[in-house]
Amino acid sequence: MSLVNKSASELAAMLGSKEISSVELTQAHLENIDKLNPKINSFITVTHELALSQAKGVDELRAKGEKLSALAGVPIAVKDNLTTIGIETTAGSKILKGWVPPYDATVVRKILSNRMPILGKTNLDEFAMGSSTENSAYGPSLNPWDLTRTPGGSGGGSSSAVASMQAPLAIGSDTGGSIRFPASVTGTVGVKPTYGAVSRYGLIALGSSLDQIGPVTRNVMDAAMLQDAIAGHDDMDATSLPESLGSMTEAAKNDSVKGLKIGIIKELTGEGFQAGVSERFQEALDLLVAAGAEIVEVSCPSFQYAIAAYYLIQPAEASSNLARFDSVRFGLRVMPEGPATVEKVMAATREAGFGPEVKRRIILGTYALSSGYYDAYYGSAQKVRTLIQADLAKAFEKADVLVSPTAPTTAFKLGEKQEDPLAMYLNDIATIPANLAGIPGMSLPVGLAKEDNLPVGAQFLAPARQDARLYRVGAVLEKLLENKWSMRMLDLAPELKVN
Ligand code: GLN
Repeated sequence: MSLVNKSASELAAMLGSKEISSVELTQAHLENIDKLNPKINSFITVTHELALSQAKGVDELRAKGEKLSALAGVPIAVKDNLTTIGIETTAGSKILKGWVPPYDATVVRKILSNRMPILGKTNLDEFAMGSSTENSAYGPSLNPWDLTRTPGGSGGGSSSAVASMQAPLAIGSDTGGSIRFPASVTGTVGVKPTYGAVSRYGLIALGSSLDQIGPVTRNVMDAAMLQDAIAGHDDMDATSLPESLGSMTEAAKNDSVKGLKIGIIKELTGEGFQAGVSERFQEALDLLVAAGAEIVEVSCPSFQYAIAAYYLIQPAEASSNLARFDSVRFGLRVMPEGPATVEKVMAATREAGFGPEVKRRIILGTYALSSGYYDAYYGSAQKVRTLIQADLAKAFEKADVLVSPTAPTTAFKLGEKQEDPLAMYLNDIATIPANLAGIPGMSLPVGLAKEDNLPVGAQFLAPARQDARLYRVGAVLEKLLENKWSMRMLDLAPELKVN
């Protein structure tokens, strides 16, 4: 019996009935990590001993009859931009190599209080800037479906770990699509909750007004259970929502889309999308219509400025957030040649510690915020942000949820876009509006594209605080697709097959 092929909800049930132990389950995943991670580089750090001791702890509590949470004993992988006491946290950057945080992110604390063993820290583009993990200082992760392709980014470590069954669950962070895009190109489920639904305390900030932590899983129910485990108000995050958004686990039990109004976003279909992506997307819509959903067309004209606005706002916020890496407080310190002043040490450290994409964004962001240019760039981008929010509000008057493909293409080849930052940025066309507006989004696998037999993702969007709608429609679509595409038994690259 292979334990690594099962969903987290199945595993939770098996743990609950004492059919398996968490030590057994965690061991099985660690063995798979030892086998696959050297090939696809999903993890920067693997925490064998820690995971097993946490597993042993939860098994003992269960043996004593203690009441445990729904996911207790199910192991999880955590993106390496969340702080973890005692575990090196790099954010994919050389500048943080060797840094061991003195505090846990709130999400990590919740994982630990839910008694979920932490398998390790997953790879990412440096400071989560990118769409392929090729910007990681620790080498790229590879796509388990085809090792010549990227698993998306920035959270390609989490998506490739979950897709290749090194972990049943993973945590991602999404500033412009870094949960949803990797999910789309690896055939996994990725959710960016409503801004403020999950605490950002301890997430190494990229764009603070855009960042949101969320689940990466192999099915909708697993994502729902994980969102329930990590969400909730936190006094340590000033933007944390005061209220609970209800139970996603309950929403994911839904079995009907009768009367649900689904809005197709005109600007995010057709031209510019790979034919095989559009085909699978259309099929998924047809299934929803056959099940009783109603399709309406909506238009969000200001989406055409979304990428331009995002790539001003996000670098502006990043340039400010990254100022804290000053060689004094964290990680790397490089001494300059000749007499050292604080400024010279700082400059030498930042020169050596940051990669090219990070430097590019610091320059862009600093420029956009500088006096004389602020109104023209940052100010205009903020106005576009308001227009996008207004477009979405209007669209949600006509539809309960909105839908589009998650990304214009399936997984691209390593190196294909690395030399051309603009081509890389264009990937984010469908995912960025949700971050600019603070609304929740889910990417869900809808089959394989005919051109390349690689996974295609559909993205659902809901109004702020209505995350449950995503789980309701996602659960139904997943069931409708089950016979056609058995996406849960992934057709991985032959080098990676597990029995
Ligand atoms: N690809 C986007 C970027 O490079 C998204 C990053 C993210 O969501 N962390 O900024």
